Amino acid sequence: MLLELQNIVAGYGSIMALKGISLSVPEGSIVSLIGANGAGKSTTMKTIMGLVSPRDGEIRFKGEPLAGTKPYQVVHEGISLVPEGRQILQNMSVEENLYLGAYQRSDKEGIAADLKKVYDRFPRLEERKKQFGGTLSGGEQQMLAIGRAVMARPELLLLDEPSMGLAPIVVQEIFDVIKDINGSGTTILLVEQNAKKALQIADYAYVMETGHIVLQGKASEVAANPQVTAAYLGGK
Ligand code: ATP
Repeated sequence: MLLELQNIVAGYGSIMALKGISLSVPEGSIVSLIGANGAGKSTTMKTIMGLVSPRDGEIRFKGEPLAGTKPYQVVHEGISLVPEGRQILQNMSVEENLYLGAYQRSDKEGIAADLKKVYDRFPRLEERKKQFGGTLSGGEQQMLAIGRAVMARPELLLLDEPSMGLAPIVVQEIFDVIKDINGSGTTILLVEQNAKKALQIADYAYVMETGHIVLQGKASEVAANPQVTAAYLGGK
């Protein structure tokens, strides 16, 4: 297992957002975490990144304990987050945003090679490399956020609702990119409201409700589960 969460309890003040979450992400896979608003999906991501401290439980990355590690150390360990809402720097250029993703690296040649890969994957970012991040469309900003995370050369990429607020054609593009990044060897943990698409590309899936994992299985099995179809897949 690349990442393992065991019985993670975490929250904000008196709010218990995670009430004992256990999940595993095998190396090379795409694992999807779905569930309604407020279920605790983003908190799970933040806890892995060290942005929220667990009150109980264990996180292991490559077999080593990760809980209590600071966010910059988590990035150094090989995990990158594409946060909900993208959070790119509006008043910095596209290229500066991308370089920020590599801020912990010093291998200039590797960084240049990865920048080229990002531009090959997202030609629109290269065309707009001098433009301020804030002037990009929603889809382009999402691509920039993904490109920035990839610039850290992570082994595990966490994506928090990458399709949120995007037009269907752009959503498809984003899911194609996720598949492509996974195909080139990066393991992916994907949080999505768009359960249908997420279950199509994932190998394994977890369903969260109010701080608990209520269902898990192969993505195809989860997609065929009547409770999941009723609650998250439009009841078809
Ligand atoms: P969404 O899809 O709406 O982002 P989610 O599944 O990602 O939902 P979380 O954002 O993890 O859910 O929220 C889980 C619970 O924690 C919710 O009850 C939410 O109100 C609460 N919560 C999240 N962030 C904070 C915060 N910074 N301070 C207090 N409570 C918070």
